[in-house]
Order: sequence, then C-alpha cells, then structure tokens
Amino acid sequence: MSNLEQTLSIIKPDAVERNLSEEIKQEFKNKGFIILKEKKIKLEKDEAEKFYQVHQTKPFYNDLCSYLSSGPIIVMILEKENAVLENRKLMGATDPEKAEEGTIRKKFGISIDKNSVHGSDSQDNAKIEIDFFFKD
Ligand code: UDP
Ligand code: MG
Repeated sequence: MSNLEQTLSIIKPDAVERNLSEEIKQEFKNKGFIILKEKKIKLEKDEAEKFYQVHQTKPFYNDLCSYLSSGPIIVMILEKENAVLENRKLMGATDPEKAEEGTIRKKFGISIDKNSVHGSDSQDNAKIEIDFFFKD
C-alpha cells in the first residue's frame, strides 16, 4: 500500500559552513526524495530552544541550541514513500562514528553534535516540525 509522507530535514550549520548543502541535497534526490520546499535561515537562540524543547532536560540541550543557532541552516520538506523512516535511514546514527557506510552522517558528520543533518523521528513530529518552519 502506498504511504506517501513528508518529513522535515535540516542541513545544520557545520554542513552549510563547509559548503556541503548541494552535495547533501543531491543525496536526498538520489534516494528519490522530492524537496517540496526549502529555505535558508538563521535561527535565534530562543527559536532553537523552542525547536529542540523535547531535549530540554538533556545535559547537551544548551550547547545544542547554541550550535543550531550559530549560523545559517537549510530547512526542507522532503517527500517520499515512508519519508520519515527512509530519511532516518539515509541520515544514519546520531554519532557519525557509529553511522553506517553510505549514510549522510558517516560521509559528512564531524562529531555527535556537529552531525550535519536533522530529520524528524516520527510522523507526528514531522507535522509539528514542518509547521514550525513553514506555517505561513
Ligand atoms: N546531541 C548531542 N549530544 C548527544 C546527543 C545528541 O550533541 O549526546 C545532539 C545531536 O546534534 C543530535 C541532536 O542533539 O542530532 C538531537 O539528538 P537526538 O537524540 O534527537 O538525535 P537525532 O534524532 O538527531 O539523531
Ligand atoms: Mg531526534
């Protein structure tokens, strides 16, 4: 049965800064993702805090929010069959050292915090995150 989904993807500051955006977008396209919408923005710290509020009790929360707001990012709506899961597979594990060969984080990630991409982890969160950036 068909299950066309949308998910939110972010190319994080470490990757934008290293001019990897086009190469990373091509990774998505090669796997059959359609980029429905995209924009380059820079978040304020308080916006990053709101985006990552599910992590507010974690020890890395403050650094994570400082980092996400440290430079330009590219936010995208990706569409594909089973997009949420397929994007998580293509991204690879949170820690690039543990990510599988061929994944974006394995190829481009620097460290567990500078891991180049974000992707929604469920359909519910995908809707929330898409609204966060693209509700106008
Ligand atoms: N993160 C970190 N230290 C950790 C775990 C996570 O800096 O020990 C950062 C990392 O950038 C990660 C983000 O927090 O992408 C969100 O964490 P999550 O567990 O949701 O990982 P993801 O869903 O991005 O794989
Ligand atoms: Mg997550």
